[in-house]
Amino acid sequence: METLAFMSDMGHENIIYCNDADTGLKAIIGIHDTTLGPALGGCRMLPYGSEKEALIDVLRLSRGMTFKSSVAGINLGGGKSVIMGDPVKDKTPDLMRRFADFLNRLNGEYITAEDMGTTVEDMDTIAEVSQWVTGKSKDKGGSGDPSPITALGTYWGLKAAAKHAFQDDNLSGKRIAIQGVGHVGMHLAQHLHNEGVELFVCDTNLQALKEAEERFNATIVDLDEVYGLAIDIFSPCARGAIINDSTIPLLKAKVIAGAANNVLKDPDKHGKEIKAKGIVYAPDYVINAGGVINVYHGLSGHYNEEASQKDAKNIYNTIDKILTISESQNIPANVASQKVAEMRIAKAKTQPKNP
Ligand code: NAD
Repeated sequence: METLAFMSDMGHENIIYCNDADTGLKAIIGIHDTTLGPALGGCRMLPYGSEKEALIDVLRLSRGMTFKSSVAGINLGGGKSVIMGDPVKDKTPDLMRRFADFLNRLNGEYITAEDMGTTVEDMDTIAEVSQWVTGKSKDKGGSGDPSPITALGTYWGLKAAAKHAFQDDNLSGKRIAIQGVGHVGMHLAQHLHNEGVELFVCDTNLQALKEAEERFNATIVDLDEVYGLAIDIFSPCARGAIINDSTIPLLKAKVIAGAANNVLKDPDKHGKEIKAKGIVYAPDYVINAGGVINVYHGLSGHYNEEASQKDAKNIYNTIDKILTISESQNIPANVASQKVAEMRIAKAKTQPKNP
């Protein structure tokens, strides 16, 4: 009963449990909403502490994918899968192939992709058995590493947010801090550097910091110092929940726009608080949608990088629209994006589904 109660609360259509004694596979596939198309979302492999923890993660993440794809304007529903296990110790090609067998049973209702704990190579392994996978390597016709497209979309979304804060989207001379110069953050730093931004970076990885300093003349700052910097824009590209009760009072930036997921620790409370403080916020799942846009373009098996880049650049217009609604209706940007996502789904529900 507990699972069904969770599903009703969050509006899920289907939850599938997968178990295989031979390979040790224990996985859960969550299908949240297929109004706009087949449920697509990554496969996360983590050593979850309990089955309940894995279930809650898949429910939360698959629901998030419904709204992300809806706002991004792509014809996909929301899904996600989790494999319970340590990706370093427990992952084998046979386990991934067995997972692929389960995907085949769903016959395209859910399409998987890489996520935390899985790689482009794992997607290639799944593709040996199932067609219901995207994000394969480029030499296999797939979309490859999504980070460059995610960074491109984040760059354009950040410019749109800057337009709302400064009445100008030109970033030249702006002071921008990037928290986390990893796969996405480093590509983003390149775009910003090309536009003449004065960059500040923090990271736990010293090598990444050194690279950003050498390539972009970025100023390295301490992990805690980043929140209180006298900057124009703060770009979180590392972890979630970093906009919270402790950090909001420190912020001097006029814009928060970065690729990290779930940056607002408590979306209801902290979305309101940053708006009250006059900070323009580019909602995380809208600005970082380049990743899902990229795998969407890899679905056909003939990845088209140009089309993917074009759609990622369109994140500028999406953020612009959401911030305009936020301002005109005086609601937090995260509430405005949720409205836009839900409206597209509600409208599609009134129209006949594609055959
Ligand atoms: P990544 O692991 O390559 O980079 C994260 C960077 O943050 C690393 O360099 C890491 O050392 C650093 N870091 C970790 N803890 C930190 C801390 N406390 N302070 C500062 N830096 C810290 O990950 P990524 O692929 O670049 O993704 C970055 C964020 O964007 C994640 O939240 C991810 O979920 C989100 N995202 C990524 C994509 C994508 O295409 N890769 C798509 C959508 C969303």
